[in-house]
Amino acid sequence: MKKQPDGRDGTIFLADTHCHVIEGRREYRDGGPPLRRAAEAGVVRMMLAGSDIATSRMAAATAKKYASLGVFSAAGVHPHEASSIPSCSAEGGGIPEELRNIAAQPGVIAIGESGLDYHYNHSPRDQQQASFRAHIRWSLETGLPLIVHGRESYDDIVRIFREEEAHRGRGVIHCFSGTEKDAEFFLSAGYFLSFAGPLTFARNHELRRLFKSLPEDRILLETDSPYLTPVPLRGKRNEPAFVRYVYEEGAKVRGISLGEFARTVAANAHALFGWGDPYQEAGSE
Ligand SMILES: [Zn+2]
Ligand SMILES: [Zn+2]
Repeated sequence: MKKQPDGRDGTIFLADTHCHVIEGRREYRDGGPPLRRAAEAGVVRMMLAGSDIATSRMAAATAKKYASLGVFSAAGVHPHEASSIPSCSAEGGGIPEELRNIAAQPGVIAIGESGLDYHYNHSPRDQQQASFRAHIRWSLETGLPLIVHGRESYDDIVRIFREEEAHRGRGVIHCFSGTEKDAEFFLSAGYFLSFAGPLTFARNHELRRLFKSLPEDRILLETDSPYLTPVPLRGKRNEPAFVRYVYEEGAKVRGISLGEFARTVAANAHALFGWGDPYQEAGSE
């Protein structure tokens, strides 16, 4: 049966725009089983974020291996790991050659994740900032969208965005947790805002209120798996298949059907990553 582009045959296509298929911080396992479960659950686009050079390389290899499932990857260094790329100091040479080579591989279609995390401060703040600046410049230079991670650091992210003129490029603030004012700033800079499991957490009324007020063409959804498992699966290890719960909550909050919302998010994700809109593809079969 031909899949209808508006989901009239009941087909719903989901995208997980940010996940990690890693086990622990150092060890990596084959992402096959969770990626296949996601495909069975209707998740037809997945973005594997890089956290350092090693995981960026593994994400690229996984995207290549599972390209037929709609798996893509990003290359970048998480603020936690910023001190692992000493070249990104104020006087350093910026993004290492090794990382640039990974980003040049097919299926690697974004830069990230990079940003500032002042909750844990696993890397010193000045190194996080230098790395973040280098990633913004790299994104502007390559034209690849930037995936930004922020935690308790939005004031500095906004400041560096301004100083580096990040609005000249494109990207997403993943797992957005800022204020309304932060949201306005990033929207005016042309960025998307992405939401994960926290949207489903009972206490997050403010986040849902903000989410409801956003323009529909700037919203993305993600799992950030294996972290941030959505309600009602709290306590389980998160995986891309569970992104459906974030979609369901998002549709409920915005008062629209799941099918309609999925269509919107698919179009947004394609607008940012250029990885194809499954509804359009189904419609033109
Ligand atoms: Zn992150
Ligand atoms: Zn992440």
